[in-house]
Amino acid sequence: MLKPVRCVVLAVTLCSAAVAEDLKQVQPPAVPAVPVSAKKLDELKRKYPVTITIDTSETPEFRDWAAAAQTMGKGWYPWIADQLSTPGYVPPNHIKVKIYREYDGAAATGGDEISMAAKWFTAHPDDMGALFHEFVHVVQSYPSYRPSWLVEGIADYLRWFNYEPVSARPKVNPDRAKYSDGYRTTGAFLDWIVRHRASNAVRRLNAVMRADTYSDDTSRKVTGYDLDTLWAQYTASLRTASE
Ligand SMILES: [Zn+2]
Repeated sequence: MLKPVRCVVLAVTLCSAAVAEDLKQVQPPAVPAVPVSAKKLDELKRKYPVTITIDTSETPEFRDWAAAAQTMGKGWYPWIADQLSTPGYVPPNHIKVKIYREYDGAAATGGDEISMAAKWFTAHPDDMGALFHEFVHVVQSYPSYRPSWLVEGIADYLRWFNYEPVSARPKVNPDRAKYSDGYRTTGAFLDWIVRHRASNAVRRLNAVMRADTYSDDTSRKVTGYDLDTLWAQYTASLRTASE
């Protein structure tokens, strides 16, 4: 009695394997070059070695996309680790990514594990920068997620002002935005601070977050100005630029 049942199971397995083989692959975008010399990149890769595994067992149509994402991570993860380095800190060196069939949102990180949603990346195959953003969170691994707008702002600052093309940089509406909006808004604010007030601001803020010593006084210590004053200066510069 068992034999026919086994045959059925085998046939089903073979059939699904054939379907997986024929699945149209999600097309990965081109990966931007890491903005350092080849010599410097080699040095960073030696200093911050990383293994990235991407599980596409549920989502085999992402095989090509995952291969491109691994290439991206091999170059950019050591660069991120260098941007957010602090004395004695060793960032995670094995990142486990999984692309889930059933998952809401786009992507999320817990420790060194990144979950990605097949639905989002099927609709937005060019959004590899979203994975870059999650790589930043892996390097950050701060003791606390506080303040969250700054954690997300640093991730988006590195993403939008280094990884993504200049044409894609976020535009902030000075009448609606707040520095505590996080993500692109805080990222753009940090970019302005780095260019106009304190070139080492992101590095110093990262060090404060890693030590878990952020306070209302941090901005003044790092840039010489409190947050409200800096934000007023930044939004004034946006209004002047748009006049
Ligand atoms: Zn994030």
